[in-house]
Amino acid sequence: MGTLDGMGAMEETAAGTAPETVHADCVECGEPTEYPESVRGATRCPVCEWHEAQRTACSG
Ligand SMILES: [Zn+2]
Repeated sequence: MGTLDGMGAMEETAAGTAPETVHADCVECGEPTEYPESVRGATRCPVCEWHEAQRTACSG
């Protein structure tokens, strides 16, 4: 019962402690972003992301 056993283990982990996502730091200001650390490339917090969007919009 390999597959069933694996699923059971996952369920047990979820019930025990809530999976805590490690958030990546913002490359601009160092604040924690909404993105998990596993995300590749530059990550920005909502504020810096907004600023970046404004910059891009204006330079267009
Ligand atoms: Zn930021």
